[in-house]
Amino acid sequence: MNLARRAAMLIGAAAVLPLVIFFAIQLSFASRDQRRLVESRAMASVETLIVESDAQLSRTLGALDALATAPAIRQGDFALAYRRAAEIAALNPDWVSVALTDLSGGRELFDLRQPYGQPRAAVFRREPLPAGVAERAVVDGIGGSGRGCPCVVVHRRVRGPGGRDYLVTAEVAQRPFQNLVMTPASDPRPVALVDSHGRFVARSVRPEETVGGNPSQSLRDTLRSGRKGGIYASRTLEGFVSYTAFATSRLSGWSAHVAFDPTLIDAPHRRSLAATALAALAALLLATALIWFTLRQLKEAGRVERRIEEAQKMEALGQLTGGIAHDFNNLLTPIVGGLDMLARQPGLDGRPLRIVESALNSARKAAKLATQLLAFSRRQNLEVRSVDLPALIANIEPILRQSAGAAIDIEIRVDPGAGCVLSDPNQLELALLNLVVNARDAMPDGGTIRISAVPLPAREGSADVELRIADTGKGMPPDVLRRATEPFFTTKPPGSGTGLGLAQVYGATRQAGGGFRIESEPGKGTIITLTLRRCDDPPPPAVPTRIDTKPAIQPERRILVCDDDDAARTFVAHSLEQSGYVVEHVSSGRTAVEAARNAPFDLVVCDFAMRGMNGAEVARRVRALERPVPFLLITGYADSDALAGIGVEIPVLRKPFDGDTLAQAVRAALGDG
Ligand code: ADP
Ligand code: MG
Repeated sequence: MNLARRAAMLIGAAAVLPLVIFFAIQLSFASRDQRRLVESRAMASVETLIVESDAQLSRTLGALDALATAPAIRQGDFALAYRRAAEIAALNPDWVSVALTDLSGGRELFDLRQPYGQPRAAVFRREPLPAGVAERAVVDGIGGSGRGCPCVVVHRRVRGPGGRDYLVTAEVAQRPFQNLVMTPASDPRPVALVDSHGRFVARSVRPEETVGGNPSQSLRDTLRSGRKGGIYASRTLEGFVSYTAFATSRLSGWSAHVAFDPTLIDAPHRRSLAATALAALAALLLATALIWFTLRQLKEAGRVERRIEEAQKMEALGQLTGGIAHDFNNLLTPIVGGLDMLARQPGLDGRPLRIVESALNSARKAAKLATQLLAFSRRQNLEVRSVDLPALIANIEPILRQSAGAAIDIEIRVDPGAGCVLSDPNQLELALLNLVVNARDAMPDGGTIRISAVPLPAREGSADVELRIADTGKGMPPDVLRRATEPFFTTKPPGSGTGLGLAQVYGATRQAGGGFRIESEPGKGTIITLTLRRCDDPPPPAVPTRIDTKPAIQPERRILVCDDDDAARTFVAHSLEQSGYVVEHVSSGRTAVEAARNAPFDLVVCDFAMRGMNGAEVARRVRALERPVPFLLITGYADSDALAGIGVEIPVLRKPFDGDTLAQAVRAALGDG
């Protein structure tokens, strides 16, 4: 993912976060508002019910007060009181009956249901009488007896003649209260009025069975708790689970109850909970994503920075070593030349000659080093051209296998699309050889080397091919990885590593316009990736020079190859074998002289700058043998000028060279060309 897209995502996430929180709060507020609305509507309806029933009751109480305080009872004229009661009852159609009881005597004086003067057995309505009944008419509750009931009972106590107490009781039809609570028959949730004794005065559902009876447990519990109003969770007599709003009348002590659908409260509540939970989750996710993105961004930035630092370091190293190597190369040319001339001075022998030769030897090695440094600093002479990569790999494959040894498998996979690349073919072969040798050294107990070439998707007009060499070796710890491409950096014991392998690969690849990358972890192997520029034109078909030369070769030409550099030696030996020669190879000057003494060779091909005895010395000794052998000296870029002084006796092949050039030089040296 590129930086801009990631930044956009970051900004997007940061912008969305407050939005999510805002909507969650909004939703939870909306849910709460909705719940409050439902509750306040229910409360309003119970309060209305109380107001209406109070109005109904006040009329009755007022009429009873008027009757009870009329002079008739106080004067003890009960017949008159009976007539007055009948008049008031006629004016109030809901009045079912009026009765007068002599509380002191414990007997009923009259009941409008009976004609006056037919006294009945003493019937006490209710004991104890409601509080305040002596000062005003008070509501008792649902009750009554006889025709026209259930009734609502109201009382008023009065003092009569002789200080006796009388009780006037009116029984009023329940019907008007029933009318107050009626709801559509389809509504299963009850509306009810409950008296102060806890009995239904009126109920919208099943009134015939429930009026006068006891309400549900939840309702009774609520009344017993002493609360005067509010909402409670209820379970109706019919078993409906509901919420019920209730309010209590101050006038009568009655309460009104309206049950409503619990989902009206629960659903918004659940919704607001769910919204909050969801928002919390979304916020958490977003925050996690933000943190993750930021951390990745930081890590990526760190990686980029490190990569830039690496590149700058390599660049600086390259410039430094390049400059030094170039100057050294120039300085070494006259040194080598001068020493060489000195060494040839007639009459110089013994100790002085040995000193000069040893100085010459060292100077030549220094020159060889300078060449390798020039390769790293990308200042060598490169011949970048179109190269048929699959062909190049196929060509060098046997050398690679031979260098890797039997314990190591080499798997090669070349994508058909990775045909033509821009490179110096000799340097590229050398790079492959260097990388395979490194991989081999990292796998002392054997393993697998995978070489692959894959075209990359074209980008901004240029297309690349990735050439990858992966091994299953011991890998590199970070400090080695950081320095691996530095020239002379090696972890190998003295004598087995020069520290110039990766420097060559890096330098040559970069100079040819390609890229270089190492991925490695201890224990996980190493992957080295060269990014090579792809070319459109297929390279000119390779002229099969080596095959052409074959018929010209005499059978059984034996060549001794000597080079202390494994990669170079293997390359030369293999090339010559391909051209049909019988090749033996050795890695030091001393063994070369030995071999040439002991077996017949048609030619010795020897590198010039070697540890110990150098090429020129080998040549001198081989020629001094009883049976001298023709000699071909291989020299580097830097020693070329120095060697000019050696003279014509030794044919020289200049590095870098390819297989064809080598074959030509060998033919010439053998006298076959
Ligand atoms: P040399 O091989 O002479 O040591 P190079 O420049 O080729 O020099 O490599 C430098 C160092 O990088 C090696 O000494 C080694 O520690 C490390 N290295 C290179 N290639 C590999 C590899 N394939 N596996 C593990 N380590 C490697
Ligand atoms: Mg190496």
